[in-house]
Amino acid sequence: MYQTTGTCQFCHQTQIVLMRDENYTQPEADEEATDKCKCEGATLRRKQRLSKELAEANIDSILVNHAQAADFLKQAIPIIQSYSIQNVTVQINDVSKAKLSMNQKGAFKVEKIDTLKQTLENE
Ligand SMILES: [Zn+2]
Repeated sequence: MYQTTGTCQFCHQTQIVLMRDENYTQPEADEEATDKCKCEGATLRRKQRLSKELAEANIDSILVNHAQAADFLKQAIPIIQSYSIQNVTVQINDVSKAKLSMNQKGAFKVEKIDTLKQTLENE
């Protein structure tokens, strides 16, 4: 372990960090310091990363046979987390669509909706 100092990218507080690789760069040390920092910005980033990982796993498990739709929804995660859009709905085929949304606590919900319509008509 190599001891150095890193600066949190949010609050700019400096702290001692331990690097595994002796060829570490300053941005890597700063990244390490940000990961450890207890400030609001760093805490929010950790929460968002965790939420993103959970959402990705849920997307994969619910859209197991629709890899491209799954990838598309995963790309929307950071956009939704930045509040640029509220949710995304993908029409996968004639029958199925998938929707990704985030609640106020920052937790994602992924839904797969299958519509089967049955019609009988008198002639
Ligand atoms: Zn910080």
